[in-house]
Amino acid sequence: MTEGRIIKALSGYYDVKTDEGVFRCRGRGVFRKKKITPLVGDFVEFDKNTQGEGYILSVKPRENMLIRPPIANISQAIIVSSAVRPDFNPLLLDRFLVLIESKNIQPLIFITKKDLLPESEIVRIAGYKSLYEKIGYTVEFVSSGEADILHQLKSHLAGQVSVIAGQSGVGKSSLLNAINPSLQLKTDDISTSLGRGKHTTRHVELVEAGDGLVADTPGFGSLDLNDITAEELGDCFPEISERRPACKFRGCYHYKEPKCAVKQAVEEGIIAEHRYEHYIRFLDEINSRKPRY
Ligand code: GDP
Ligand code: ZN
Repeated sequence: MTEGRIIKALSGYYDVKTDEGVFRCRGRGVFRKKKITPLVGDFVEFDKNTQGEGYILSVKPRENMLIRPPIANISQAIIVSSAVRPDFNPLLLDRFLVLIESKNIQPLIFITKKDLLPESEIVRIAGYKSLYEKIGYTVEFVSSGEADILHQLKSHLAGQVSVIAGQSGVGKSSLLNAINPSLQLKTDDISTSLGRGKHTTRHVELVEAGDGLVADTPGFGSLDLNDITAEELGDCFPEISERRPACKFRGCYHYKEPKCAVKQAVEEGIIAEHRYEHYIRFLDEINSRKPRY
């Protein structure tokens, strides 16, 4: 029996990467009965015959998974956000952060197009960089043409399974092309498509880049917060979840409750106002989908 990781799925076959190379494997009927569909990113055990073909026997429990694109066991999500063209958008950045945190994936923030900014704007965006770093995130503020960008990206990709996220035009492909020109990021056309059926056969592949694996389709194409509960939302903001134990009420939503440590930290300027505003906005969004009786 051999162990490996699925890096590609194609109509009934799975390419499994192992220390001895890549093996093309078939799934067994047993999966259909158990209703488990092996996913790209899954760790599997397989038997191989003399021709080097394999049969997947089992799928290891998953750390996490995304539905679109369908991929399991992602360790890192790189949120690409441009400083300009399109303008830096903290609300969108926070939405990506919440979606990523809710899946227990490590976020990494890349702010691009520094070269297009005048000095005063560089200072403003650098302010955001240090604010997010204070929360605990790693933030790079770069231009895709910079000489050391390759080195920077490579060190972040090493040993990770990464998915790239970010709106269109922010520079996702430019960053990845710098590291692996054969990695043409597929566009995530969900938001622009009219019908749904069109995407049922969409494939994702994990491609080697800088001593790590990167998904060739951007992640988090759907930005709704449908899978997140109001209780979980606070945990998706590290600076809020950190203060929760100091709130007077155990189930505090940091909204209208008195003696709330989070609201106090906002008043004292310890928690950034825009972060708290976004938290409340997302909380409203989540609560408004609850059925009312
Ligand atoms: P994607 O849609 O997120 O994959 O974005 P692309 O990588 O296709 O980039 C969109 C446009 O922005 C392209 O014309 C890139 O050349 C340009 N671009 C990307 N990063 C930078 C950057 O750091 N500086 C400048 N000046 N242009 C950039
Ligand atoms: Zn509170």
